Amino acid sequence: DFTVKLQMHRNDELGELGASIQKLASDLEHLKQERNEFLASIAHELRTPLTYIKGYADVAKRPELPPAERSNYLTILSEQTSSLSRLVEDLFELARMDQLSFHIEKEKTEIRSFLRKTVEQVQAVLADKKMEVVEDFPEDKVYLFIDLARFEQVTLNILDNAIRYSEENSAITVKVREEHHSVKIAFSDEGIGIPEKDLPHVFDRLYRVDKSRSRHSGGTGLGLAIVKEIVEAAGGTVRAESSLGKGTSIIIEFQKESKA
Ligand code: ADP
Repeated sequence: DFTVKLQMHRNDELGELGASIQKLASDLEHLKQERNEFLASIAHELRTPLTYIKGYADVAKRPELPPAERSNYLTILSEQTSSLSRLVEDLFELARMDQLSFHIEKEKTEIRSFLRKTVEQVQAVLADKKMEVVEDFPEDKVYLFIDLARFEQVTLNILDNAIRYSEENSAITVKVREEHHSVKIAFSDEGIGIPEKDLPHVFDRLYRVDKSRSRHSGGTGLGLAIVKEIVEAAGGTVRAESSLGKGTSIIIEFQKESKA
């Protein structure tokens, strides 16, 4: 009768509630695990510039160092510190990105000179591996509206990978092409390449093709995730093409905006 029906109904509801709670608990567990992994990655990402800073500070404090050389090291220290604080800022933003809309401060920028200046920042690392950056730029100026600080991080993350995943004496080509409605920027290296099965995942947070290889080279699995989230928040697209053993290209594309 009615009471029995009601009781059955309640049991069903209780069962459903139980299942929902169980699902919530497992989701929460999963989130906790993700958060822990994310924190570990952040620690790794911070370690690299800190290692540089410690190294250069140790060299700079040597009393016998000629003043010009010391000043050189102090400049590098200052640059590394700035890049570290930018990195910390962007990591905070990356962590918040899922909930908050991403604020982008765009400025009209001549992209060839911007890229040239950014490449300058990695000259020491390039020289260390006897690598060079080849410019494949159009003759005319190319303008884009970009957030300078964030796009600098995008460029540095891509160059950093291109250097880390390449052998000595190889080249990185930075190509800029202006099309009717869009601007394309491609960074191509001659490095170890990415297996086809991993290619769709390299922009995922925390994804590493080969953990030991990536960690050995100072990787955290965050670099390309940051690249993708910044580029997409700015209205662009980014993709990777790669051929194992031959090299990798990271291609960014922005639609041109009409100037207001
Ligand atoms: P990581 O900090 O580990 O390098 P990224 O997010 O920057 O993480 O890249 C994700 C993975 O994609 C890396 O672990 C690496 O295996 C692969 N990868 C990225 N860029 C390159 C490249 N230029 N050449 C070869 N492999 C790359």
